[in-house]
Amino acid sequence: MIIILFGAPGVGKGTQAVILAEKLGVAHLSTGDAFRAAIKNQTPVGQLAQEYVSAGKLVPDDIVAKIVEEAMTNEAFANGCILDGFPRTRAQAEALEGMLSAKGAEISKVVNIAVDDSTIIARLLQRGRADDQEEIIRHRLNVYNDETAPLLDFYGGKGLLTTIDGIGEVDDVNTRILAAIQA
Ligand code: AMP
Repeated sequence: MIIILFGAPGVGKGTQAVILAEKLGVAHLSTGDAFRAAIKNQTPVGQLAQEYVSAGKLVPDDIVAKIVEEAMTNEAFANGCILDGFPRTRAQAEALEGMLSAKGAEISKVVNIAVDDSTIIARLLQRGRADDQEEIIRHRLNVYNDETAPLLDFYGGKGLLTTIDGIGEVDDVNTRILAAIQA
């Protein structure tokens, strides 16, 4: 089972992915977490990614593909995974298709979590991560709208997409996501 949790920064993908991975017994891959760990440990990938992550820019697709491919070789991914924050560009979506078809796997569902921009900004300012400053948040939202949101049409066209309301209690949103996956 391969589930993509889709949506702008701050819609709750990370929180929901952790809960879903536990409930469904599959792995969780957050490319953002992977980059933050690589930066903290100053690995070669971390050194390459650092300037992009701190500025709220997208890390180049080839570096992203490398970190995803590496994660997917992990045994924990045998049952499937929740993808959180990947893919974010058309090139990444195509790279993912290549990786999955090489394993004989395919995307089960893309769940788009919808939250309005003013709620997103308020949530992220409260979270207070290093890249959660208002100017960087606005940049990340612009990047999402320009580069990532077009994937909604890409996955919609394949009949894989369901959009759910991301406003409300964490458990209620999780119930909506599970219903979308099981539909
Ligand atoms: P996130 O934790 O998903 O909000 O990601 C934090 C930051 O990591 C983003 O602003 C990007 O700089 C970088 N990043 C995470 N995932 C990707 C991705 N799929 N493509 C490019 N950059 C990414």
